[in-house]
Amino acid sequence: MRNLLNMLRQRKLFSIFFFLLFTACSVSKNPLRQQVKQLQKGKIKDDTSYVYALPYAEGKTFRVIQGYFSRFSHKERAALDFNMKRGTEITAAREGVVIRVKEDGTLGGLKKKFRPHGNNVIIQHADGTRAGYWHLQHNGALVTAGDTVQKGQVIGLSGKTGYALSPHLHFLVWRSSGGQWQQVLTRFLTSKGIKYLKGWKRYKNP
Ligand SMILES: [Zn+2]
Repeated sequence: MRNLLNMLRQRKLFSIFFFLLFTACSVSKNPLRQQVKQLQKGKIKDDTSYVYALPYAEGKTFRVIQGYFSRFSHKERAALDFNMKRGTEITAAREGVVIRVKEDGTLGGLKKKFRPHGNNVIIQHADGTRAGYWHLQHNGALVTAGDTVQKGQVIGLSGKTGYALSPHLHFLVWRSSGGQWQQVLTRFLTSKGIKYLKGWKRYKNP
């Protein structure tokens, strides 16, 4: 009996070990991943790119629960997840024109089959980039396609539709030129200056 318990314990340790080995190895090879690290540390200076507003009301603070290229579900994504309870007001991080709205989704969870249910708003910016705001609650879009929105304008209410473990806002910016889809890193104005956001940190919109 004791031998059996020991064996099971060892097996468990082994599977944890392999899990760690696997996750440690499975990082993205996307060159943007290295680039964002250097930008976060200030090793690369970037004075020309657009400075985005945090996508929530002034004075509010939220935690980034997943940063760029993190291993859980952003492995290949230059995207940010802000932890937010359902119904939190989401604001435009940059002015532009709404080109897509989906708000009829009602389902969400951590299964692939939920992915198409994620409600979202997509805003096109003057330089051709687009920002996506994902997982809004059912009927949680407060804009419609064709609307011009100002930076800081409330555009929707957060939720948990689509592929999501808990209510949060998934935010990303990309550029698509000639059928090519290119992810874009974004810097934000925070209460502590202009930053490339990191996972597990809290940021206040000044
Ligand atoms: Zn996400």
